Amino acid sequence: MKKSSVKQRAIINVQGVVQGVGFRPFVYRLAVQHNLRGWVRNTSGKVEIEVEGKESELADFLRRLETHPPPMARIEHIRTTFSTLAGYTDFRIHASVSHRDKYQLVSPDIATCKDCRDEIFNPSDRRYHYPFTNCTNCGPRFTIIEDIPYDRPQTTMRAFKMCPRCEQEYRDPLNRRFHAQPNACPECGPQLELIDANGKAVKCADVIKKAGELLKAGKILAIRGLGGFQLACDATNQQTVNLLRDRKHRPAKPFAVMMAAISDVKKHCIVSPDEIELLESPQAPVVLLRWNNKKSDLAQSVAPDLKYLGIMLPYTPLHHLLLHEAGVPLVMTSGNLSEEPIAKDNDEALVRLKGIADYFLLHNRGIYARYDDSVYMVEENKPISLRRARGYAPYPVHLPYKSKQILACGAELKNTFCLTRDDHAFISQHIGDMENAETLEHFEQTIELYKRLFRIEPDIIACDLHPEYLPSKYAARVASENSVPLITVQHHHAHIVSCMVENSVETPVIGVAFDGVGYGTDGAIWGGEFLVADWHSFQRVGQFEYVPMPGGAAAIKKPYRMALGYLYGLLGIDFSLAGLPLAKLNTTETAIIKQQLQKRINCPLTSSTGRLFDAVAALTGLSNESTYEAQAAIALEMQAPDKFGRGKIVTYPWSYETQNGVIMIKLKELFSAIVDDVRRNVAVSEISLKLHQTVAGITVEMCNKISQQTGIKQVALSGGVFQNRLLLQLTTNGLRQADFQVFTHHLVPCNDGGLSLGQAVIANFRKVKAP
Ligand SMILES: [Zn+2]
Ligand SMILES: [Zn+2]
Repeated sequence: MKKSSVKQRAIINVQGVVQGVGFRPFVYRLAVQHNLRGWVRNTSGKVEIEVEGKESELADFLRRLETHPPPMARIEHIRTTFSTLAGYTDFRIHASVSHRDKYQLVSPDIATCKDCRDEIFNPSDRRYHYPFTNCTNCGPRFTIIEDIPYDRPQTTMRAFKMCPRCEQEYRDPLNRRFHAQPNACPECGPQLELIDANGKAVKCADVIKKAGELLKAGKILAIRGLGGFQLACDATNQQTVNLLRDRKHRPAKPFAVMMAAISDVKKHCIVSPDEIELLESPQAPVVLLRWNNKKSDLAQSVAPDLKYLGIMLPYTPLHHLLLHEAGVPLVMTSGNLSEEPIAKDNDEALVRLKGIADYFLLHNRGIYARYDDSVYMVEENKPISLRRARGYAPYPVHLPYKSKQILACGAELKNTFCLTRDDHAFISQHIGDMENAETLEHFEQTIELYKRLFRIEPDIIACDLHPEYLPSKYAARVASENSVPLITVQHHHAHIVSCMVENSVETPVIGVAFDGVGYGTDGAIWGGEFLVADWHSFQRVGQFEYVPMPGGAAAIKKPYRMALGYLYGLLGIDFSLAGLPLAKLNTTETAIIKQQLQKRINCPLTSSTGRLFDAVAALTGLSNESTYEAQAAIALEMQAPDKFGRGKIVTYPWSYETQNGVIMIKLKELFSAIVDDVRRNVAVSEISLKLHQTVAGITVEMCNKISQQTGIKQVALSGGVFQNRLLLQLTTNGLRQADFQVFTHHLVPCNDGGLSLGQAVIANFRKVKAP
C-alpha cells in the first residue's frame, strides 16, 4: 500500500478564543476542502474536532488549523491524538455541549474586517452604508456580552429579531455570518438617530451625511461608538479644537485623532512599517506617531507642544462612514468631562455631555461594558502597551504557573484590576482614575462582569499598600465581607513583578521602578527605586535620596513647588533664585513654601523620579502648572533633540552613599550644575538631553553596583517614567552595553495600568494566615 493512501483518525482539542469567532465553519470548510469526514462541536471553553481521511490531507488540515485560524480566534493549545477509524461518512457541525462552572475566553471587540468594509461602500450591497455591519471576523463582542455561553439572548443584541435574510446567513455554516451573534442589517438591526443639544431630532434624509456636514462646519459631535461615547470634531480646525478643550475642561492633554486611511496618516506623521501594521491590526489601537509638523495641517492644539500624535484608523462601520463623509481627520476623544468614566448610555450622555457637544449621534444597540480606546507605541519594532482596553481586554495574559483565584484591585490612577484563574490573568480594560464615585461604580460593575464571565470567586484579595486609595478601601471591605485574606502589595514591587511575569522571568531581578508616586513601606512617597525582587518579596537596595514635597499633592500639580523643594532641600534654605526663571514667581508664595520647608509643614518626603523630571522642567522655565499627569516631565522630554551626537555621553555630576545597606543617589551636585547651566542660558534642549543621559547613566552604574553584590545580571524596567521614550532607549542601551539582560513591558502598561497584574502574582505566592 502506498503511504499517501493510508487513512487516519485525529481527535483534536482546541483551546483559546475559539467560540463566537467563526471557528466551527472554518473547521468545516477546511475539512471539506481536504476531503475529511467527522465532526466539530463547541464544548465549554474549547472546540472538539474529530476528522478522518488520508494521512497527507490530515497533516495539511492540522497544519492549516494552526497557521490560518479565523482572524478573531486566538489559539492557546491544540492537543491531537490519533486513533482507529470510526467510519464517518460526512462532516458535520454538532450541537454545543456546555458544562457548568467551566468558562471560556471571550473575544475582545475587533475592528471592521475588509469584507464588511467592502460591503458598506458597495452601492449594490444590502448593507450599503449600514453602520452596524459585522460578521464572525469582526465587530462587537465583549462590549455586548452579559454572560456566557456567548449566544444572542445573552447579549444586548437580543432586542433585535433577525430578518429572514439575516437568519439565513446565521444558519449557513458556509456563510461569513454563521452564528455571528451581532448579525444585523438595515432592515432588522440597530439604527442611528441625530439630535441637537436640546434633544430635538435633526431632520435629514441621511444621518451620517448630515453628521459629516456638521463636523466639516466646525461642530462638536458626541458619537455613541462601540464601548461608549466619543467627542468628535474637525482636527484641522483650531477654533473648534480649542472650543472642545474649553468645554471639556481639558486645557492641554493630547487628543487622539482618527484618520480615514494610512495614506492620510502619512500626510501628518512619520510612520514605520511596524506602526502601520499595528494601526491596521484587528485591534486597531491608537498609536503614538512622530508628528510631521512641517507637512501636517492639523491644529496645534490637538497635542500642544508635543512631538507625538495619537492616531487611529476607523474601527467600526460608523467610523468609516463618518470619516468618509467628513473628509477631514477627526479628533476622537472619550466622551466624558475631564476624569469621569466614558459615558455609554444615551440618556446618560445627554446629561453628562450637555454643554460639551453641539449634536448627539445616538444608536439603540446597548453597550454593556464601557471600553476606551487602547493606546500603544512602537519601540525596537515591537508594540508597547500604554493603555490596554479595546481590542485587547478581556483576553488574558498567560501566567507561567497555575494560579489561585485572586482579585487584585490595582492602583488609583489609570486603574485596572486583575482576576486570576488557572494560567490566566484577566486584566480588566482601562477603568480610569479612581477619584470619583462614577469611576468607583464602573470599577465595581466591571469586577462583577469579569467574575461572572470567567466564573471566578476570589479566595484572596490584593491591593496597593496605600490605605487611602479607593481600590484599597474597596479591597478591605470586600475581603472582610467575604472572610477572605487581604494582601497588601508595595507599589513598586508590583510594578517590577508585573514586568517579570509578562516576560516569564522567575528568578530574582534587579528591578528599576521609576514613577510618579507610590506608597513606600516607610510611609514616604517612593518612585526612584532599585529593588532586588522576585515573585514573593523584595528588598530595596537603592534609591534616589529623599527630598521634601512642599504642599504634598500641590507639588504634583505645581512643579515649581517641587523645584523649590529640591533647591532649598539640597542647596540650603538660603539658596538665591537670582538669574533663574523661578525668580519670577509670586514672592509671597515662595516665602510660604520656604516656611513650609523650614518648619516641615505638609512636606512629605519623596524619592520620585517623576518629580525629579518635573522639578528640572520648572527650573528651566518650561512648565509651571501640570494639568495632566506628567505634563511637565513630558515637556522636558519633548525639548531633547531628536538626533544627537554619537560622541561621548555628557552627564551631570552625582554621588552616592550607602546608608543601612541602601545605596542613596545624592543629587546636590546635579542640581548645582543644572542651576549653573540655567544661569548661563544653556539651551533647554541641551539640559534636557544631559538630564536624560544622567538618569540613564545613574541607572547603569547602580545596576553594576547591585550586580557586584548579588551576581544578578537581569534587569526589569517598570513604572510610568519609562513611557519616556528617550529615557527608555538610553537606559536599555546602556544596560545592554554593560552586559545586562533587560526586560521591559509590552503586553501591559509600565504605568499604573499594569500594576494589578503584579499584585495578583505576588498575592499568589505570599504566604497568608487563615482569616
Ligand atoms: Zn466583518
Ligand atoms: Zn436583517
